[in-house]
Parts: sequence; C-alpha cells; structure tokens
Amino acid sequence: MQTTFKMLIDGTLRDGALALDVINPATGHVFVTVPRADQNQALAAIAAAKKAYPNWSAKTYAERATHVAALADAIEGRIDDFAPMLTREQGKPLGDARFEMEWVVGQLRWHAAQVLESKVLRENAAEKIIEQRSPYGVVAAIAPWNYPVWILIAKVGAALMTGNTVIAKPAPTTPVTTLMLGEVAAGIFPAGVFQTLVDENDLGPVLTSHPDVDYVSFTGSTVTGKKVLSSSVDTLKRTTLELGGNDAAIILDDADIKTVAANVYRAAFLNAGQICFAAKRIYVPNAMRDALVAEMVVLAKAERVGDGLDKTTTMGPVQNKAQYDKVLAFIADARASGTVVTGGQDIAGDGYFIAPTIITGLADDARLVAEEQFGPVVPILGYDDLDTLITRANDTELGLGGSIWTSDPERGIAVASRIESGTVWVNTHVALPFDVPFGGAKQSGLGQQGGIEGMKDFTQVRIVNAVLA
Ligand code: NAD
Repeated sequence: MQTTFKMLIDGTLRDGALALDVINPATGHVFVTVPRADQNQALAAIAAAKKAYPNWSAKTYAERATHVAALADAIEGRIDDFAPMLTREQGKPLGDARFEMEWVVGQLRWHAAQVLESKVLRENAAEKIIEQRSPYGVVAAIAPWNYPVWILIAKVGAALMTGNTVIAKPAPTTPVTTLMLGEVAAGIFPAGVFQTLVDENDLGPVLTSHPDVDYVSFTGSTVTGKKVLSSSVDTLKRTTLELGGNDAAIILDDADIKTVAANVYRAAFLNAGQICFAAKRIYVPNAMRDALVAEMVVLAKAERVGDGLDKTTTMGPVQNKAQYDKVLAFIADARASGTVVTGGQDIAGDGYFIAPTIITGLADDARLVAEEQFGPVVPILGYDDLDTLITRANDTELGLGGSIWTSDPERGIAVASRIESGTVWVNTHVALPFDVPFGGAKQSGLGQQGGIEGMKDFTQVRIVNAVLA
C-alpha cells in the first residue's frame, strides 16, 4: 500500500505545510497521514491556476481533449491502486470502489469527446450575431466524501474541457484518492492547470471568497452550500451547488412488489445509503405495505456489513464518526415513535458499522422523514390517496431526485411530472448517464452537472454582435 502522498501545486508534487490523519472507517483507526495545505499553499495554488489560465483556455477543444483523455488512460492503468485506497478511506466494498473508478474513466472520456460550439444566432447581409461560450477562469472544485473521486471528476472533466483551470479540494475525511489523482495528473497537464489541495474544512472559504477564483463547483450539504453562496457574493462568483436531498420513492398500486422491493432497497442502501439522491423516504399503498416490508427485511438481513476489503462484504461502514453518530441519532429518534422492523443497531467493533435499518409507523414530521439521513436507515410510509401523497412528497424544502414505481410507465411519467425535483426516475433510481444533466430543485442546489448542460455551466455566454453593412 502506498503510504506517502504529495499535493500537486503549480506543476510540482509538494509536501504539506501541515499534516492530516486519515481514518479507515472500517477500523476507526488512522491508516495514513497525508499532506495538508496551509493558507499560503492555497494562495500559491490560486496564483498558479490564474497564471496557467491564458494558455490553457487558448487551446482548442481537441488539444485539451488529448490531456483529459490521457488522464483517463492513466487512471485506468492504476485502477488496481485506486480502488483499494478508495475502499480504505471511504469504506465502500471493493467492487463498488472499482465501479466508481471505472465510471470516472468513462466520465472523463465522455467529456474529452465533447465540444461546445459557437452558435450563429442571426446572419444576413446586414449583421452577424454569434453566441460564444468562454471559460470563467479559475475553478474551485469542492467535493464531499461519499463518492470522492467520481463527484470530483465530474466537475474536473467538464471544467478542464471548457478551458478553465481547476483546484480540486476533497473532503478532509477522504483526501487520499484526490492526492493520487494529482500524482497521476502531474505529468499530463501544464503547471497550474489541475491542482490538489487538502484541508481540514478550513480552506473552502479561502477558495470561495478569493477574487482570483472565478467559479465554485460545490457538492456537499445544503448548510455548507449556503455558506459557499454567501462567501462568493462579494465577488459575484458563479457557482454550481449540488446539495442534499430527501428523495421519495413512490410505489404505485399497480407495481409488482417483489421486483420493486429489490430495486427500491438498492436505491435506499447502495453505498450504505450515503448518496445524495438515494431513496430516503419510501411510500407504498397501505394495502401493499406489509408485503414490501417483508421483502425488504429479507434483503436487509442478507446484507453482509463489514470491511469493504473483505470479499464477502456487501455493505461498508458509514464514512466518518460524525455521520455515524448522526445516523444513530436518527435511529434513536425514530425508535421513540416508530417501529424498527430490522437493524436499528450499530455493529460491535471500532468501525462505523450500522446494520441496514428499516423503520415503519412514523409520522410525516418525524426527523427521519422530514430531514436527510444520509446513511443506512430508511422509513417505509403508507398512503391511500395518490393526490394527497404527492402533496406529502413535495412538502419539503429539498428537491434533488425521486422515483415512481409502476407497471404502467406512462402513468409513472404522469406522476413523475408532478414531483418537485431536479430528477425523477420511473422504474429506476440511481441512474446518471454521462450525457444527461443533473441538478437540484428548491434547496437541493443551483445549476447543473453532467451532460452538455453541465459543461455549459462552466462557461460564460459572450454575444458577438457585428454590423456587416
Ligand atoms: P459538507 O457540506 O460537510 O462538505 C462538502 C465539502 O465542503 C467538503 O470538501 C468540505 O471540506 C467543504 N467545506 C466545508 N465547509 C466549507 C465552507 N465554509 N466553504 C467551502 N467549502 C466548505 O458535506 P459532506 O458531509 O461532505 O457531504 C454530505 C452531503 O453532501 C449530503 O447532504 C449529501 O446529500 C450532499 N451531496 C450532494 C450531492 C449532489 O450531487 N447533490 C452529491 C453528494 C453529496
């Protein structure tokens, strides 16, 4: 296992002015100590990104694509190093870590193949009006800890291809794979084009308030997203905010419970429930509720919770102690007014393991229903009238995703069209094709990530309006 790491700042792999211990959530113990930047190193990275910007943005898409595609190839060549490290720092089972890395390679290749063309809006004998898309400049890419590589790379690929330079800042509990990305990228990009900066939740505000950072692409909690927005006000920085969700999975009365149970279970418990758009509230007709609960309990009991490096593990730990405590508090609160039908306890040992937990009998204002849990616990709630249910499902400040489950997809689309969310799936959940944009409604975010729309978000529209005669 690699044990020493460096940050990539201004084209050089550097030690940190400070150090950061990284905990393996499967053991609860420090497994590696990595470099951590101080404010001066952050400022050096911003200066280097600014310096690199004119040359990088002047390159053609084809020229930038050779670098981005080379990064994809280099990551692909090191998947066997990345995947176990991702498991060690994040907790997810090794197969899921490999999948995340393969997704990253595919995402970068997709971005490398895209071009945002200028568009002629009007052309005649008298005038020519063109819509061009120019990059913003220096982008701060700030990532969370649930999909540390994939979420970061979704930003990096789009930002670099559109001509921006990027400073990548991981969450402090999952910095290792980002540092590895920097090491891989060091020989691929000109100095300052792509950099890595590790912090302990202290350098985010430096990046988001600095006048030479032109754009912030942030994924994390709604609470932090609001801080990012307010700290970028002085410089009127552009931002994309991908924030929290409290997604409803709605099962209609014509659904086949056995098939739906397996899919909804996965939507709730994949990555130990630590997905922004995981199914966080499951609604089912009262007459079908017991059948759904029975099926999902079987799936929960079959789960093998453990260290992701163990080949038999199907669910890893919660990623960090703070989130582990938060999820246990959600369960304790729900236990007081609802029924824990399976799980409900942490698992002995130092790791942050929680058995997959299903809770019924909660009111709509119970914390577990009204707030985002972001962990391996989900409430199953009954309903009788679909119109009333849609009002209940929409009665939240969040609006990231959601899903409708039915044997009649057209009916599903009609119901989906009434849900106030950025994405509503029908008979699927957790599906994010590279070419499809993703973003939050209401307090789940601003702007889009993914697809051409997501790339456009990293560009400023410039209208060139020429009088010809
Ligand atoms: P978080 O908001 O605590 O941290 C996210 C990132 O912000 C980290 O890199 C952190 O260091 C940084 N940060 C902290 N304070 C900052 C500040 N004042 N200014 C700038 N940056 C700062 O979120 P988290 O706990 O790491 O992630 C979990 C949350 O992220 C959940 O709410 C989840 O729903 C959400 N999430 C959303 C998406 C999405 O695409 N919408 C994807 C994944 C996770």
